[in-house]
Amino acid sequence: MRSTPIPLSSPDITQREIDAVVEVMQTPTLSIGPRVEEFERKVAKLTNRQHGVAVSSGTTGLHCAMIAAGIGPGDEVITTPFSFVASANCVLYVGAKPVFVDIDPKTLNIDVSKVASAITPKTKAIVAVETFGHPGGMIELEQLVQQHELMLIEDSCEGFGGTHGTRPIGSFGRASVFGFYPNKQITTGEGGMIVTDDDVFANLCRSLRNQGREGMSWLAHQRLGYNYRLSEINAAIGCVQCDRIEEILAARRKVAHTYINRLMTNRFLILPTLEDDTHMSWFVFVVRLNDLFEVGARDDIMRDLRAQGMGCNNYFPPIHLQPYMAQEFGFKEGDFPVCEYVSARTIALPFFGKLTTRQVQRVCDTLEKILDKSMTSKKSRF
Ligand SMILES: *Cc1c(COP(=O)(O)O)cnc(C)c1O
Repeated sequence: MRSTPIPLSSPDITQREIDAVVEVMQTPTLSIGPRVEEFERKVAKLTNRQHGVAVSSGTTGLHCAMIAAGIGPGDEVITTPFSFVASANCVLYVGAKPVFVDIDPKTLNIDVSKVASAITPKTKAIVAVETFGHPGGMIELEQLVQQHELMLIEDSCEGFGGTHGTRPIGSFGRASVFGFYPNKQITTGEGGMIVTDDDVFANLCRSLRNQGREGMSWLAHQRLGYNYRLSEINAAIGCVQCDRIEEILAARRKVAHTYINRLMTNRFLILPTLEDDTHMSWFVFVVRLNDLFEVGARDDIMRDLRAQGMGCNNYFPPIHLQPYMAQEFGFKEGDFPVCEYVSARTIALPFFGKLTTRQVQRVCDTLEKILDKSMTSKKSRF
């Protein structure tokens, strides 16, 4: 008997979210209403911020944040090459230049010790990402931007619910941006949120997401704006997800620890690095092949996993080597060796709160068999 496939991710939706959606649908207000405001208050509270501005996605939130930060043509923005493309694309949207800095092989976030040497007179900001939910380096980056009078924008799209010391992810820098796509810790279907303590920044983002409007008048547009609004229906889902946040995060943590306990002794894998003063918010569960494996082995291993019904993916290919980036800025292989080395060896395994211990065991059993097979076939070639 072939067992049922295990997807890479799956949203944590209960009857409460479904009821909340049905309730909104029975009102005449499907956009610009009380649910969006309630969702903004909840996310701001959870991240210790004064303001939340709900938007249609993490990407549109980052776009607004770049404009509100005053970044434009001629400016440089320092960011990581090991991330989802949106964290670098937002720099391109405003006509500025992304300047990549290689990553720390433990946290997989930007290597803070290499940032200072990338700063030029044109540098305006740093867009920092908590890759896979790891907050490492954020406090140091905050100190660094103060010394150099730069602005820190936190792309916290992978870190909802995590903490660094006593500080929540989403509380660092001038503003932080969350995304609520279905594979994130909490979801609204599509959606995002900018959080900040800066009144001017928040108001600017509110105007930008709503066609440049500033006052009550529907047809007065103060500036070039966008329709980046979040609907009441999506916001209603977000409100319930915020109310369930502890339960959602605890379920994900439990799955992550089941994986770690099971795979800890595997001699072919590098597991996520945990640090004492940080609380990962588990976005994905990514293992890395160690250097016993040749480049290319990873893709064969993923193919075998998929053939056995296990979702997996190569989070993340280096951003600087994506065709449009490499062409536009002349990036090439070897530019960011740590990122490229790590990136060639990652496997994101099925990960979501509802994954049962039995399913995790099945994924690990299958993975270990495939790894053993991969090693044996390699040896037989010599
Ligand atoms: C998910 C994500 C985003 C935003 O994604 P959307 O799909 O636009 O909501 C941005 N940056 C990073 C690092 C992400 O992981």
